[in-house]
Amino acid sequence: MAKWSVCSVKQSEPERGPQHQPKMSPTSNWYNAIAHVDADCFFASCELMRRPDLKGQAVCVLSSQDACVVAKTYDAKALGIKTGMPVWDAKKLMPQAHYLSADFRFYGQLSEKMFSILRRYSPDVEVYSIDEAFIDMNGIRSMWKMSYRQIADHIRQTVYQEVGITVSVGISTTRILAKIASEMNKPNGSTIIPGRRISRFLRDVPIGDVPGIGRSRQQLMKKMQIHTAYDFTNSPIARIDDALGKVGVDLWHELSGVPVYPLQLHTPMPKNIARTASLGTVTTNRKIIEAHISYHTTRIITELVRQHLTTSMITVFLRHKSFEAVGDKTRITATNEFSTINHVVKTLLANIFTQGNPYRACGVIASNIQPYAQQGELFAADSTSKQLALMRIMDEINNRYGLQSLKPAHALVKAKSQVRFQYPVLNYAIKY
Ligand SMILES: [Mg+2]
Repeated sequence: MAKWSVCSVKQSEPERGPQHQPKMSPTSNWYNAIAHVDADCFFASCELMRRPDLKGQAVCVLSSQDACVVAKTYDAKALGIKTGMPVWDAKKLMPQAHYLSADFRFYGQLSEKMFSILRRYSPDVEVYSIDEAFIDMNGIRSMWKMSYRQIADHIRQTVYQEVGITVSVGISTTRILAKIASEMNKPNGSTIIPGRRISRFLRDVPIGDVPGIGRSRQQLMKKMQIHTAYDFTNSPIARIDDALGKVGVDLWHELSGVPVYPLQLHTPMPKNIARTASLGTVTTNRKIIEAHISYHTTRIITELVRQHLTTSMITVFLRHKSFEAVGDKTRITATNEFSTINHVVKTLLANIFTQGNPYRACGVIASNIQPYAQQGELFAADSTSKQLALMRIMDEINNRYGLQSLKPAHALVKAKSQVRFQYPVLNYAIKY
């Protein structure tokens, strides 16, 4: 097995706004308005929606072949069950919980339904992940003749009535503030932060709760005596620039209420979908590594299904304790099916895993991304693939429109929502 590095794969910089703008002192509360809508415990809520008999009980949703927890209800969370936790650890903590296998097609359908509701409120919706969206709210108050709080409450009620799941909504002047706000009153809460309340709001936000401040940055902030988001915005920008560079400067502006990250409404199709992370510890335990790989695979397939995409190239890599990476990849027939991709991932992992070797990180990358069931695929492929592709299309139509809806198949499978796709994971991978 040749040494292999993800460092060679380049990822383009996400588009960003102007740099080093002067700190804006808001003359009005709503010089800019962005909402962040985030479903509460999304996969678990989807399961509870169709299994009302489980309401009020702890539910964990499991990844492929039930290797690890990919979502859980708040009761399960309260007992220390974490996303990504191997199922055997979760069952030790909470044997009485209900453990259900994930059903990504179902979650994808509910997610589409939720986003279609959000588009009624504003034409500018950025789908950020399977259960989160940003909405441009400028001008929306006068259109709906409601305050932002009323609109936020209305969104929550409508999603609950029509989809059967709860969401939390945050509205403020920048993306980062809206995202932090939506976390504040979870589950099923609205949090509105107008311009003049930003500074007060930030005093109660621990620096570790700010998106983009992970564990290592948090430690650095601690050394700089920055404990809250308020401390961060109160530090001289040059000091933040020295410590964190451009990311920090952008964050400083966004937290101060100056929008830097525009909504990404027209993002091109991704070239790769990658999920990688540290194992949390250096380990030789194959079961732990398999659980992590299984979790990454689950997340990749969630994105493929949600965005109506397929992959025809799968890569799996492991990073040794010595930071050296080893990987393997293979071509497959374009698919987003769990069983196929999971089987390939397992085979690739078996090719690169060496018993007794200590590993610190791992990842899965899906590349050669294409729209799901393209017309070209039907004509170019052999008859088995043709049939399979046709069945997929029919399945999709039947799921959405009922059995009589064959005619709009072509239009349906070609129609794709515009989604954000910027996982800077390939860069992320090289940090370990
Ligand atoms: Mg969520």
